[in-house]
Amino acid sequence: MESLYNEILHCRKCSLYKTRNHPICGEGHPKAPIFIIGEAPGREEDKVGRPFIGRSGQLLDKILAACGFSRDEHVFISNIVRCRPPNNRVPTDKEAQACIPYLHRQIEIVDPQILITLGSTAIKRIMQDHAIKISSVRGKWLSMEGRRIMPVFHPAALLRNPSLKKTTWEDFKEIIFTYREDINPKHHSDYA
Ligand code: URA
Repeated sequence: MESLYNEILHCRKCSLYKTRNHPICGEGHPKAPIFIIGEAPGREEDKVGRPFIGRSGQLLDKILAACGFSRDEHVFISNIVRCRPPNNRVPTDKEAQACIPYLHRQIEIVDPQILITLGSTAIKRIMQDHAIKISSVRGKWLSMEGRRIMPVFHPAALLRNPSLKKTTWEDFKEIIFTYREDINPKHHSDYA
């Protein structure tokens, strides 16, 4: 992972390096059973160099805590692109295609059983299918190279539209149940 991070630090494969402060490599347990994929770093992440530390990240941490999951023990968190797009716009095709090989290499290194994609961009890019609608696929298990994938709404969408929280919690409960079935039958969550 270290040599990958070194490559990312010096990456010039798209023009986002020109406007970012820090590339965000990812963080979490190096052999996490769950790998979370967001879209792109935002302002706070770009300032600090860590993924999901702004408002979306705080909500994500709350949801993970309710599931009994933590960044230290159960999850690794990364994004489709490693550098912040100006004004938080959606990464372009060129940017996503240039950056996604880093994500695939991280997934291979961490070797998780479960991938959770947050929002529309992440699931479209992972499945390489731009016709996917997050509202249709959320909460349904998909798969890629033997790994389960659970698409859920992005926490930023939950902040904009709190009525999505209820269905998203149903999706995370599904993840907890599968985690117990496939990974640790004794896994504890206070809420499910
Ligand atoms: N939103 C994302 O998709 N990723 C981050 O790292 C932060 C906010």
